[in-house]
Amino acid sequence: MTRTELATLGEFGLIERINQQFTPVLPQTIKGIGDDAAVIDTATEEYLLVSTDMLVEGVHFDLSYVPLKHLGYKAIAVNVSDIAAMNGIPRQLTVSIGLSNRFSVEAIDELYAGIQAACEAYKVDLVGGDTTSSRSGLLISVTAVGVVDKQKISYRNGAKPNDIICITGDLGAAYMGLQLLEREKREFLENPDMQPQLEDKSYLVGRQLKPEARTDIIYELLEAGVVPTSMIDISDGLASEILHLCNQSGTGAQVFEENVPIADDTFLSAEEFKISPLTIALNGGEDYELLFTIQQTDYEKIKNSPHISFVGFMTNDPSNVELVTKGGSRFPIKAQGWQHLGNAQS
Ligand code: ADP
Ligand code: MG
Repeated sequence: MTRTELATLGEFGLIERINQQFTPVLPQTIKGIGDDAAVIDTATEEYLLVSTDMLVEGVHFDLSYVPLKHLGYKAIAVNVSDIAAMNGIPRQLTVSIGLSNRFSVEAIDELYAGIQAACEAYKVDLVGGDTTSSRSGLLISVTAVGVVDKQKISYRNGAKPNDIICITGDLGAAYMGLQLLEREKREFLENPDMQPQLEDKSYLVGRQLKPEARTDIIYELLEAGVVPTSMIDISDGLASEILHLCNQSGTGAQVFEENVPIADDTFLSAEEFKISPLTIALNGGEDYELLFTIQQTDYEKIKNSPHISFVGFMTNDPSNVELVTKGGSRFPIKAQGWQHLGNAQS
């Protein structure tokens, strides 16, 4: 038997390998592995959506600066975000935890206070889960169920050439928030008497610690009568996600740097850390904004939305997913994601 290192496949290669070994056979399985959520036929006007995500201590969060209440909220928000990315509405959740006696009852109460706050914010019910012991820190695994009108579902693979590329909110803030928290931690470990320097960084730190799923946008699109031709949530950075949309849709893309939404705080902080804000928007992670495409004819209906930026177009050349800089130069967009930025997340 030969032994193949996981690193030779990478995360996406491994998922693809699993995917190839399981072909759905049930007629109710409309979409299996490969989108933000699985899609199941219920013989009604709606599809059922199912998505699951796991957060692991030391990989996805560091309890030395992440409050448990925020962690609980985030664990729900990131799952709700995957339901939103199908143009769906979240309904129910299960939450499974692995923990050790390092955690007190009060600590777990805090975690669940955050989960409860998220259940209220997104109007979802916690309906089950599992509890087990863990020897490797805290684990939180959440499964979210949602629904979407069959006529209004948005897959990753529906974009067409000339569709307009849209992004909600702004990008890169969560990554800068993480850099600030990591810096504070390092400085605290060197000098425990030091006071935290995060007062004026609340936007960036908040985006890292308490991300919001953009269910508000799903209602906004519904009201405007716009169904995205494709959609994905931005968990790994714009580069990786636009490549997913293009690869699955068989399109190329042109993204204009000047239209990529980046908050002033992100710009300032990136300058301080001597990182390019564009690199962070492309390759940072955990923004949980939505990236979607619309038909040109729908532009009028949402062009005045304060929550949506129009950043470029899909093209008919799948080999050409490119960024057009402010100076007019063109660069191929490559997925670097977390690993490139020195994190082992995903
Ligand atoms: P997201 O970032 O939107 O959560 P992922 O990149 O984690 O999506 O997953 C992409 C697709 O692969 C999803 O359809 C997900 O359900 C599927 N997937 C991920 N890991 C596994 C696994 N171990 N077994 C089966 N499917 C998986
Ligand atoms: Mg997703």
